[in-house]
Amino acid sequence: MKSNFKDYELSSEILKSVGMLNFESPTKVQEGVIPAVLKGRDIIVKSQTGSGKTAAFGIPICELVDWEENKPQALVMVPTRELAMQVKEDLFNIGRFKRLKVSAIFGKSPFHSQRKELREKTHIVVGTPGRIIDHMEKETLDLSKVKYLVIDEADEMLNMGFIEDIETIIAGVSKERTTLLLSATMPDRIENLADEYMKDPLITTIEEENTAVDRIIQERYVVAQRDKIKLLRDITIVENPDSCIIFCNTQQNVDEVYDELYEMGYTCSEIHGGMEQDDRLRIMKDFKKGLFRYLVATDVAARGIDIDDISLVINFDIPKERESYVHRIGRTGRVSKEGRAVTFVTEYEGRFLQAIEKEIGKEIPLKEKPAGETVEERKEEFTEKIKTKPEVKESKGDPLSKDILKLHINAGKKTKMRPVDIVGTLCSIEGMSAEDIGIINILDVSTFVEILNNKGDLVLRELQNRPIKGRLRKVNIADRDRR
Ligand code: AMP
Repeated sequence: MKSNFKDYELSSEILKSVGMLNFESPTKVQEGVIPAVLKGRDIIVKSQTGSGKTAAFGIPICELVDWEENKPQALVMVPTRELAMQVKEDLFNIGRFKRLKVSAIFGKSPFHSQRKELREKTHIVVGTPGRIIDHMEKETLDLSKVKYLVIDEADEMLNMGFIEDIETIIAGVSKERTTLLLSATMPDRIENLADEYMKDPLITTIEEENTAVDRIIQERYVVAQRDKIKLLRDITIVENPDSCIIFCNTQQNVDEVYDELYEMGYTCSEIHGGMEQDDRLRIMKDFKKGLFRYLVATDVAARGIDIDDISLVINFDIPKERESYVHRIGRTGRVSKEGRAVTFVTEYEGRFLQAIEKEIGKEIPLKEKPAGETVEERKEEFTEKIKTKPEVKESKGDPLSKDILKLHINAGKKTKMRPVDIVGTLCSIEGMSAEDIGIINILDVSTFVEILNNKGDLVLRELQNRPIKGRLRKVNIADRDRR
């Protein structure tokens, strides 16, 4: 029999979020991890992304943190900024009805605004090792109450040279804690880390029956460098994907391919490590929403990023590192969906192909380039699709937000507004109780408050004539995107 989230000891708030995220039954990794973490057991998880591992640690941690405590109780280390943003969002969604505050801290983003956020109530902090240490050194991150420590994508953090940073961070956290370590592979340094810092950890290895590599249809084409753009055009016409990532090995190639596609009228965008962090995050967000169909990218977009429904991955340049191939193609065929990955190989790149085939344990079949006739036949349908705007996808958290209305109140810390003042007034409205109040965020001169359970309109109406802390305040609907 399939297990059910209701079989675990989870509160109604967490079960409600899980239900609204459409998680019907726990994935394998969740079956192993959730009950163990709920019992406070240290755990090592050997599993790939795409297995539901974020929710595997997110669900029990969101369940266990104490809402009343103001200081962070869980610290999650991740290798990249993109992953920090994503894990923050996943945890926020899981903890939404428990009103948990989750902060993400990472480099190349203003330190002072993170410091300000960390001064407020924060239940969970997700961050990259370098920036976590910055905050520890400047004493802007208080780790004294951290009871749950998560080391996510440990092997990748090792590759990126973060191992000493991780040890420094662990040393800053109380020994009275539960430690979770997640890693796709277990190199010696990671095993040593586990031996040294974990207490009798439970080891779960999730061998996916149907790994990404098996699930994804893979093909390759032999092509001369100068003919790659034409082949790219022909393949996109024939495949006519709803969404597609095109990987290149260098920023320059990304720029060139992007320019070509743009000229040809594709709805497309580009992303690489040379771009500003804010632009990168915005582009990933827009791609997730489905605002454009084609994303041209370097490997910055290949790691850990969770985007549903990418129908086609094209390796415009064959990756020179074999692991990178698996990460790139793993962007398609997420969580048991089928996907397609196409790789261009020039005649000088046979050795990279061999290394990749060795890594995945099978040959990638060679395909003939599409015939001119086939391309012509499919062109009309293709042109039709690139002319129409893609349908905007709902983000995972959207169903959770539907019965929530966020209000803006024109008063904040400067006028000594406190959460109790807001809660007091809201609860004085007939039909409202503390259960209906979501996250309250008090800034200098304004306050944002979430009203749950479809009671937002009622509250908005009532607050037009009802004073808060002795005075009538200007209250209106806040911009939905602001958190
Ligand atoms: P991850 O391995 O954390 O990158 O998760 C991969 C994807 O699986 C994410 O899009 C999750 O939202 C989704 N997911 C996680 N748990 C479940 C579940 N129990 N059922 C369905 N989807 C899930």
